[in-house]
Amino acid sequence: MTTTYPLHAGFTSPDQPFPRYADVVIAGAGIMGCAAAYYLARRGLTVVVLDKSRIAGQQSSRAWGFVRQQGRESAEVPLMMASIPLWATLERELDFDLEWRQGGCLYVATGEEDWASFQQWMDVARQQGLDTRTLDRKQIDSVVMGMQGPALGGLYTPSDGQAEPRRAAAAFAARAAQAGALFFEGCGVLGVERAAGAVAGVVTERGTVRTSRFICAAGASSWRLLKTLGLELPQQAVRGTCMRTNPLPPVTASTFWGHGLGVRQRANGAINLADDMQVDVDMTLGHFRALKWFLPELWSQREKFSFHLNGACLRDVRDRLPGVVPAAERLLHPRDPHPQPNPRHAPRALAKLRALFPALKDAQVVESWAGLIDVLPDGIPVIDAPPQVGGLTIATGFCGHGFAMGPIVGKLLAEINDGGKPSLDLSAFRLQRFFDGTMQRPRSML
Ligand SMILES: Cc1cc2nc3c(=O)[nH]c(=O)nc-3n(C[C@H](O)[C@H](O)[C@H](O)COP(=O)(O)OP(=O)(O)OC[C@H]3O[C@@H](n4cnc5c(N)ncnc54)[C@H](O)[C@@H]3O)c2cc1C
Repeated sequence: MTTTYPLHAGFTSPDQPFPRYADVVIAGAGIMGCAAAYYLARRGLTVVVLDKSRIAGQQSSRAWGFVRQQGRESAEVPLMMASIPLWATLERELDFDLEWRQGGCLYVATGEEDWASFQQWMDVARQQGLDTRTLDRKQIDSVVMGMQGPALGGLYTPSDGQAEPRRAAAAFAARAAQAGALFFEGCGVLGVERAAGAVAGVVTERGTVRTSRFICAAGASSWRLLKTLGLELPQQAVRGTCMRTNPLPPVTASTFWGHGLGVRQRANGAINLADDMQVDVDMTLGHFRALKWFLPELWSQREKFSFHLNGACLRDVRDRLPGVVPAAERLLHPRDPHPQPNPRHAPRALAKLRALFPALKDAQVVESWAGLIDVLPDGIPVIDAPPQVGGLTIATGFCGHGFAMGPIVGKLLAEINDGGKPSLDLSAFRLQRFFDGTMQRPRSML
């Protein structure tokens, strides 16, 4: 069964008069926009959140649900170390069951290359004071029960956790709405009005909202919005596939990567399953144009990407022809993408899962889905208030691991837009790094 996403969180009312003014306007009701709205509304600011489609209709409800500090670029680790304590109290704070479990994150090395990369990452963990440690086979067996096959060793962070993406962004939105934030679904942001170089209003499909503060949290479409402001963002989208199994006997409370599988076993025994860390790239003209940004990493990490020259390219060419997509719709097109899961992943992942854990011999894939992951060339997001446009903050490009960062990024966006300074150093996430020669090569682009 393939999941489509008729997720109507129901926090918007068609009768709600459209506001003429807000302290802060947010484009995008993914986990970043919803978490920012929650923390801003809690500070007493008036907030309007606009989504061209619906609350948490894209990446934020389609993620696997790993909430990990482990294995990240070192610049992201302090943010994740601040995000974990937020996650740990979030169910209580929002009064929602988010399926939070702090069972750790385990990577298992089967080859020397993996093992060497674990050793290297231990340096990051030590520098940052993280509780990551390497495990021998016996220790691995105490974290995952009944794993077959070889293991040179494991990398394990006990303080990592997991949560359910279909719940988290919607929970933030619900509580933000209770605190006074207004959400408008099916209402795209078309542009930003400026006065003396600073944000003066946000132009939407339902009219203009006067404001001096605008947050661009538009996921994989952020580059389009930023282009209207004269800002270039080298952002592209790839397709990630995820599966869910029937409820199965418990094998681990930890999230798990190894033997070509990603496993997150939920409290009811069902497993969110990923076939390796591989994503599909449906080539478009945009991808070809962006090769200058991505080529070095695409080549060095080519085992993670499966390239397709398929209907996506033809559609892209057709959509660019005059008159095919009305000019007013171009910025929002496609309004509500429904990427299809790669059908090869489910049988492959299921066979690997059954072989790796004989106790899971009755596993079946009951659901599969895909999401468009927004990637940047250096594998880390842009979280920045660039000086070119006063009052603009950007939070985008989370490269397949932003779900976990949602709470802390929401909090930082609230700090920035409530007249203060962010409580964490965000210099690594500046937009300008792509143009001033300070961009670093990533450990992993995803
Ligand atoms: C298959 C998959 C697995 C993943 N697994 C994990 C994981 O295990 N752990 C993890 O940490 N991360 C994971 N991620 C990544 C994570 O889901 C994303 O990094 C995160 O959800 C990004 O949130 P966002 O709010 O930036 O974007 P999104 O959730 O994509 O939200 C952006 C929103 O902006 C709206 N929008 C776009 N343009 C406009 C406009 N002009 N006007 C108004 N609205 C607009 C869109 O409709 C959308 O709702 C995964 C992603 C995928 C797809």
